[in-house]
Amino acid sequence: MNNEQITAELKKLLGNDRVSDDEKVILECSKDYIGFRIFERGAGKHFAPKAACVVSPRSAEEASAALRFFNANKIDVVPKTGGSSVTLGVEPIEGGVILDGSAMNGIVDFNETDMWVTARAGTPLEYLENYLNKRGYTTGHFPQSLPMAHVGGLLATRSIGQFSTLYGGIEDLVVGLEAVLADGEIIKIKNSPRRSVGPDLRQIFIGSEGTLGFITEATLKIFRYSPETRWMRAYGVKGMRNGLAALREITVGGYRPAVVRLHDPTETERDLGNLAPEGYCILILIAEGPSAVAAAIGKGVEEILKNYETVDLGEKPVLHWLEHRNDVCATLDKYKYYKLGAIADTCEISAPWSKIADIYEAVTERMPREVESLASIAGHSSHSYVQGTNIYFTFGAMADKDKPECAREIYMNIIRVIMEETLARGGSIAHHHGSGKYRTRWMPEEHGSSYGLLYRIKRALDPNGIFNKGVILADKE
Ligand SMILES: Cc1cc2nc3c(=O)[nH]c(=O)nc-3n(C[C@H](O)[C@H](O)[C@H](O)COP(=O)(O)OP(=O)(O)OC[C@H]3O[C@@H](n4cnc5c(N)ncnc54)[C@H](O)[C@@H]3O)c2cc1C
Repeated sequence: MNNEQITAELKKLLGNDRVSDDEKVILECSKDYIGFRIFERGAGKHFAPKAACVVSPRSAEEASAALRFFNANKIDVVPKTGGSSVTLGVEPIEGGVILDGSAMNGIVDFNETDMWVTARAGTPLEYLENYLNKRGYTTGHFPQSLPMAHVGGLLATRSIGQFSTLYGGIEDLVVGLEAVLADGEIIKIKNSPRRSVGPDLRQIFIGSEGTLGFITEATLKIFRYSPETRWMRAYGVKGMRNGLAALREITVGGYRPAVVRLHDPTETERDLGNLAPEGYCILILIAEGPSAVAAAIGKGVEEILKNYETVDLGEKPVLHWLEHRNDVCATLDKYKYYKLGAIADTCEISAPWSKIADIYEAVTERMPREVESLASIAGHSSHSYVQGTNIYFTFGAMADKDKPECAREIYMNIIRVIMEETLARGGSIAHHHGSGKYRTRWMPEEHGSSYGLLYRIKRALDPNGIFNKGVILADKE
């Protein structure tokens, strides 16, 4: 079927208002925020593959009808909701269809007794959070993309928020969900505080990045919202290795501040108001919950930090970070870095405590040797666990503004160094952005002997391979 036939058939099936082959709508829905695509778009170029059309179901039943049609005709489908992907996850397949869940929005059920909220997949996280805050609750989920991301995408990418050390990632917050399978079957996984009835089916969809089903609704935990009881403090810390050791002691010592962020000296100077002594890292800490709990965590953490080379910087850097933490979302489409002739982005990995400092040092030392046009390489840890933490590398490289087609190669060279050093030292190559289509080539090494299982699950749920080709799994086994 060619693009015109696909569009015409879908319009017959779902109605004209649910299907668009308008060039502008297709381009807008194909936008991915991976660094090299932003650079290309800054130069006025759209090198992304071209979809036949965008389909916007209003319900699981409409999504089911669309998927039955795609499956019967083996048409490629790329699900999308908020469109804040940074991994080529929402980039279409040439001649395929974008299944846009953003028209399925709104809150279905708000349950204060059982402490959960059910929202449709296209509900913007910011809307959901505001809705809850007005009623004295929070999702506890604050990714930097809060102003952009929607519920379906958060689940599909295994998202994590800035307050994760207390609330966990989205995988800890999903109580139940609804999804539509490739053959159009609608399945519902019921809400329960915990159950032991076989493998946890929610996890098939959480982190599946649109490769196994189309998520249409989710029930998320809610928490009492009490920002006024927060304990907040920043410290200057001498050296990343020392700082990472301090983070380990905080989490291993049994303390659960909501926010634990350690920025290296480059980021401290560049992004955080330069509020620490020269050459120091900045450590940002927030504890929240009942005031006695928040205060006790603060006290315990203060004691621990006396054993490391730290300087107390008070609350000011924390307030600075809180105020500016999501600013970047509003600047992405303004091409600030392209105008400077630079490709800029981030790349997150994770590792056990025993390996994380080695990875940070290996990447930051090797990168300038291997990437000729490198402008900066820095990083921070923002999500800590008893077993280890993440490093969120931030990087920039210069590129020729008149040759945007060269940006991808420079970009992928940077990613290659991060992936190689992480894998060589026993880390994991994606902490929360997912594989998308750009990290797939490193997935066999990441998963090792369990990788084949992902193909088996894919074949069982999507035998025609219509869902998000090239994401997590290479086209051919
Ligand atoms: C400035 C910025 C900051 C960011 N900060 C964070 C952060 O702090 N933490 C974090 O985890 N991520 C972050 N991200 C990445 C991104 O915002 C997250 O991955 C987010 O969860 C994506 O949600 P979305 O609704 O925008 O999904 P989309 O971009 O629409 O889709 C993302 C992926 O999920 C799939 N998908 C989307 N909807 C569905 C659905 N209904 N069913 C099945 N599959 C679906 C898509 O196919 C794609 O593979 C950031 C991105 C940007 C641009």
